[in-house]
Amino acid sequence: MKANFMARFLLALLVLAIFGAYSYVRASYTPFSDELERAREASAAPVIVAVTPQAVFPEAEATVAAPEESAEPEPTPAPTPTLDPESPAGRAAALGLPAPPEIDVTSWEYVLVNGEHSIGTYEPAELGYLNQTADATDIQTSYNPNRCPVDLRIAQALLDMALGCREAGLPVYLSSGYRSYSVQQQNFKRVCDNNGITDGKDAEGYYITMPAGCSEHQTGLGVDITDKYYEIKRDDKVASATIDWLQAHCAEYGFVLRFPKDKRPITQVMGESWHFRYVGKEAAAYMTENNLVLEEFLALYGVN
Ligand SMILES: [Zn+2]
Repeated sequence: MKANFMARFLLALLVLAIFGAYSYVRASYTPFSDELERAREASAAPVIVAVTPQAVFPEAEATVAAPEESAEPEPTPAPTPTLDPESPAGRAAALGLPAPPEIDVTSWEYVLVNGEHSIGTYEPAELGYLNQTADATDIQTSYNPNRCPVDLRIAQALLDMALGCREAGLPVYLSSGYRSYSVQQQNFKRVCDNNGITDGKDAEGYYITMPAGCSEHQTGLGVDITDKYYEIKRDDKVASATIDWLQAHCAEYGFVLRFPKDKRPITQVMGESWHFRYVGKEAAAYMTENNLVLEEFLALYGVN
């Protein structure tokens, strides 16, 4: 009985010893399994890096995430445009007009000539002579008394416009282009004498003829265009489909109607439905779209 008990006790000890030995051996292999784990992680690392860098470098998460946040549409207030009230865009905005074209208003095509702005005895550097009925499409550069002279720089644009009008089936007559200072002197005296006036103005105080030096014809940039020859040009007399077409299409060629009747208080000139002035396509488009005459347009640039 006692021996049986001892045998059981020894057996229990043996079992404990075996279990202990097993536990010891298992524990002694733990470093090796850690190495396996690290090796596994190391071999898997490239895949993790490729997908989520933050998983490998958690400290980089904040700096990586920051740009993503700022890339989202933030409710940053739109920059309030502070227009210089003394700039062309500022002056236009004050009048409820869109920004005018960025141009050099001292360039030749913007020269302002009126009762208050004389150009003295100015002469265009070179003249181009156009057939008055635009039948011929050439532009001559030597004096020709039977042709209409204009500043050579606008000759092609004028010819294109005249031919465009003819292609629309309408007659064209280039009635008057460049006039020298002395010719305008004679014109002024004749018109004044015929009307019993001395200042070139009608009963309402608007010019019907300009003093020499103040006529736009002297620039070579202004042209009178009608459908045929008229001894005396008057709005009611010269009204025609040609005039209508020119007024509707002149801006496409860089011209504007210079003296609209409703702008008399600004131009100081009686309505002249036949007088067109070259200002270039950019200015012509803006002036036409915004119903501005040259005085109003140039005032946007500080020219008064
Ligand atoms: Zn004229």
